[in-house]
Amino acid sequence: MAYDPNNIFARILRGEIPCKKEYEDDFALAFHDINPQAPVHVLVIPKGAYENMTDFAERASDSEIGGLFRAVRKVSAQLGVDGPGYRMIANIGDDSGSEVPHLHIHICGGRKLGRMIP
Ligand code: C5P
Repeated sequence: MAYDPNNIFARILRGEIPCKKEYEDDFALAFHDINPQAPVHVLVIPKGAYENMTDFAERASDSEIGGLFRAVRKVSAQLGVDGPGYRMIANIGDDSGSEVPHLHIHICGGRKLGRMIP
């Protein structure tokens, strides 16, 4: 499926819709989830137009891939969850229940999360 340039996160990246920004650099934007599932719940998204992790791994440059994961690491430190721990989640496709077709990595923490496999 082709990337939808009008998905809600693409519109946030273009500044058409506001977000509660936590971090931004050349590769990534991080903002607080509007419906948090934990005391800390932030989404980290690449600036490039990628639908999900499959699309990202296939088409993104090594710089973009490194940039996204370095942003996750910086955001986790900025939020103070890197010490106590946190969970990264990236939903892919229908079975995952993914809602927004722009790659996003959830960072959830701020409390004991319990086991979640799946
Ligand atoms: O992984 P999934 O696609 O299900 O997650 C989408 C997430 O985007 C949800 O947690 C939802 O609360 C969040 N969201 C948001 N801001 C929006 C629209 C959705 O934080 N404007």
